[in-house]
Amino acid sequence: LLQAINDGEISLVYQPIWDNRLGRVAKLEALARWQHPELGAVSPVDFIPLAEQSGLIQILGEQLLEQACRDLRRLHDAGYDWLQVSVNRSTLEFNTLSADGHEWLSVLAKYQLPPGQLIFEITESIFMDGHEEHLCRIQALRDAGCQIAIDDFGTGFSALNYLRLYPMDLVKIDRSFVQQIPLHTQDRLLLQGLISIVHNLGMQLVVEGVEREEQQAFICEQGCSFTQGYLFSRPLAWPDLLSYLQQHHPSEITSHSERVGSSVLI
Ligand code: C2E
Ligand code: CA
Ligand code: CA
Repeated sequence: LLQAINDGEISLVYQPIWDNRLGRVAKLEALARWQHPELGAVSPVDFIPLAEQSGLIQILGEQLLEQACRDLRRLHDAGYDWLQVSVNRSTLEFNTLSADGHEWLSVLAKYQLPPGQLIFEITESIFMDGHEEHLCRIQALRDAGCQIAIDDFGTGFSALNYLRLYPMDLVKIDRSFVQQIPLHTQDRLLLQGLISIVHNLGMQLVVEGVEREEQQAFICEQGCSFTQGYLFSRPLAWPDLLSYLQQHHPSEITSHSERVGSSVLI
């Protein structure tokens, strides 16, 4: 794994997150991929836990944040300046971040990115202990303008309590809640309730894992503002991401081409 990190075999793909009201891509979730010379594509489900156990997540996480910021800079320069990028952060990475968050904020500054365009995704497993320290880090990142998302919401034990204890900008509802929508009555009611709680608390909400039209119709009916899932797109490697954005937002690419020429994106 260390060698793979050093050799640059692990990089990011991006999954579009759609704004249902504006009908356009609003955010991109950065997801790690390992292109192994013999094994082929290794899933993050297999290597992220290994990186966490071995402590290599620190250098891997640094490398991935750097790539995410570099790629977002390129997208902004190309005219897609409303796009946000959302990066996953492991418990260990979050727990060792200094109280003022400078390790992450300095990467944003290096690429001259508006902090509001960066979202850090954390899971509730982070909150097992160390309440005061977490609050400090979250506050520092939010004070700097970054957004914090709670990922896989609803899969832990006391998720609702965390919404009360920690200031968050975004809640990502786990795909297990949407899988049996709209057929399963209990799931429908639960999802409906979650959407309304999150909105009433003034937070943004992303429903993950939307694969079918009827799921999307249901969550839109409930007023859910953001959708992520195979219905819109699978995670995309850089060239495919560019084609996707060009296909769905041709007007932006036209204005971009006029301004700077298309070479910026290649
Ligand atoms: P996650 O953060 O919950 O990411 C969403 C996962 O759901 C991704 O799997 C994505 O490909 C998948 N997904 C998205 N839409 C759909 C859909 O409609 N249907 C289905 N069946 N799946 C969908 P992926 O890329 O395999 O990532 C798995 C997990 O690995 C992530 O779950 C995250 O916890 C972790 N991970 C990925 N990249 C990173 C990273 O850079 N850092 C850290 N710390 N963890 C990462
Ligand atoms: Ca995530
Ligand atoms: Ca998730």
